[in-house]
Amino acid sequence: MPLAAAGMASFSGMNGNASESIPPDLILALRRAQRIVVFTGAGVSAESGIPTFRDALTGLWERFDAQDLATPEAFVHDPELVWGWYEWRRMLVQRTQPNSAHRAIAELARRVPQFTVVTQNVDDLHERAGSTGVLHLHGSLQTARCIACGTAHVFAVGIPDEPEGGRRLRPPLCARCGGLIRPGVVWFGESLPEDVLAGAFAAARACDLLLAIGTSGLVQPAARIPALARQAGARVVQVNPAPTALDDDCTWSLRGAAGVILPQLLASASMLPNAPVRGGQCAADQGRAGP
Ligand SMILES: [Zn+2]
Repeated sequence: MPLAAAGMASFSGMNGNASESIPPDLILALRRAQRIVVFTGAGVSAESGIPTFRDALTGLWERFDAQDLATPEAFVHDPELVWGWYEWRRMLVQRTQPNSAHRAIAELARRVPQFTVVTQNVDDLHERAGSTGVLHLHGSLQTARCIACGTAHVFAVGIPDEPEGGRRLRPPLCARCGGLIRPGVVWFGESLPEDVLAGAFAAARACDLLLAIGTSGLVQPAARIPALARQAGARVVQVNPAPTALDDDCTWSLRGAAGVILPQLLASASMLPNAPVRGGQCAADQGRAGP
């Protein structure tokens, strides 16, 4: 099988991000995989310009800790402060766009019989890139529910119009029981949604290839997912700019930005549509990184 070795030469130096070529046995494993799990973390969202959890403490939120804003107790104590922070973050997310990594993942799904995206991210960039059935381990900014009866809240269409520095904002009330509406994310001290976690674990145990992308592998229980896959006999490939806690569970570790490496990986495996994503396009995406 031709492994596009010539293409790899230019890959090594691209943007200074990717320091390694894509190993031929990884390309082979990708082409042969029948059941793939893609497991993503904050690094993938950061490449679209979404601030990490702690970087989202600016403006009005500067004097707070994330734990003052992201616990059930914080919401009960000051619902307007917490709801205001989440609407402001939802606005930041809706202003960003999926990047080359999100699009490569959606493209890969079209070429593999069984494909599951498991994400720790609370944005909807995978969905906006075309991925379906995404398992959101930590919930989603685009969902909300009644604190009393659990009824789902439907957000108005469009981007929240919040001031740049954020503001306190009264949460909407439940249409069914009048209870406060809370963000649909998993807060500190809360359990992950059982059905989502079970689905992610089952997919990891059943896959033949797992890609861990832009995650440090430190947040439990999500961080167990790559090890579960490896223990069940799958091979694990990691894409991340720096070494992580997952290194020992990985068959291959590719160092660099996901928005650069994933399109290269797909191109190497001849899994891109007719118009291949090239380096220039990736670079343009990175330049678009947010406000
Ligand atoms: Zn209710």
